[in-house]
Amino acid sequence: MDEKLAKTKCVICGGESFGAGPGGRMAVTGITPRCETCQSLERHRAIRGFFDGILDPDLFGELEVLQFSKDPAVKPEWFRSYEFSVYEGHNSLDMQQIERESGSYDLVICNHVLEHVPSDGNALRELTRVVREDGIVFLTVPDPERRSKTVDWGYPDETRHGHFREYGSDIVERFEQHIPDVLAFKTKLEDAVTKTPDTAFIFAHRQNRILRQIVVRGRDLRL
Ligand SMILES: [Zn+2]
Repeated sequence: MDEKLAKTKCVICGGESFGAGPGGRMAVTGITPRCETCQSLERHRAIRGFFDGILDPDLFGELEVLQFSKDPAVKPEWFRSYEFSVYEGHNSLDMQQIERESGSYDLVICNHVLEHVPSDGNALRELTRVVREDGIVFLTVPDPERRSKTVDWGYPDETRHGHFREYGSDIVERFEQHIPDVLAFKTKLEDAVTKTPDTAFIFAHRQNRILRQIVVRGRDLRL
């Protein structure tokens, strides 16, 4: 197949036809962002692209995973176990007080949820509490690089998707404040379809096999 065409395939479903996003929105690069087959948007494919890039069946097959709010970031069948929490759903866990033992998971995934909780400090402490010493937390929030300062209005604003706040690049100061003993990294993501860049944050208690895998597979990882 023509390489140019191959690059425009959806990494989640292989779909090749794309339309405007919610409300007719286009990607920042001017390209239509919504996969018409699986409905994925830029961030879903950027995150899946990251996990596809570090996928090692032997390593992933050993991992016990918890995901807050199910999205197509990962495939449950990659892992030894996969649990997800849905707000007000059958397995609804409060991210600010997770009803699980410390060190219960190897990988905790939290995409676009932190901006929905009243206390992101408690959520950060809890996410990193339930992950094992050899595990990681993978976190994304909407557009953390678009502004420098976080604006926190302290209530869920329904005109802004029910968010309590809008994060800026100073989000890293919150990590230093709330989880000072945890290693915090940034890594760049990109949606292959629209070329839209994104950023993910990764937390770990110490250097470990998953962090090594990320570096070995050529993904950038900055403190
Ligand atoms: Zn798709």
